Amino acid sequence: MDRIDTICDPLTTRQDNNRTRPGLAARATLAARRARETDPDTFEHRHTDWPQWTRRATMAHAIATALNVPIDTVTVTDDPDRRYGLVGQYPGHLITITDPDTAHRWQFIPDPAAHDHGWLFLDECPGCGGTNVPIARVATLADLGDYLDLDNDERFDHLPAEFNGDPGHRANCLHSPLTDLTT
Ligand SMILES: [Zn+2]
Repeated sequence: MDRIDTICDPLTTRQDNNRTRPGLAARATLAARRARETDPDTFEHRHTDWPQWTRRATMAHAIATALNVPIDTVTVTDDPDRRYGLVGQYPGHLITITDPDTAHRWQFIPDPAAHDHGWLFLDECPGCGGTNVPIARVATLADLGDYLDLDNDERFDHLPAEFNGDPGHRANCLHSPLTDLTT
């Protein structure tokens, strides 16, 4: 297999100690293609805000390490629902892990108190059915499992403070963002 073929075909693999795995060039090419598909605008313009790009790379690495998932299953994009800053001028970060075995997408936002060492897992609100509200504080794989374990009767006992007022709730939910009734 020559080098050109290796670079151009992301599915190229090689034998190594009886294990078949893609080489670096193949994995890099696949990662670039995935980035173009997942968040084409950000990927195309990443050079205009390189600090933002590297910050997201650090974020992806941290959660991949904590949850023991391959780094190329993690993408970090602008959060379409949550904005920060005095007037909401900064979009938050949305972290998506695509399970390589099931293709299920797991979503997280950074835990604002944990500085890249913790995240808030997004899932369905048990009250309103709104999807993607912060439902469990996660720093380790066991934290995530503690929430996902349907046999755990205490899985809703420690909702993060960010659960209340999150924009992922539906309007009629007791936990939806407060509206200003004076206007
Ligand atoms: Zn709700």
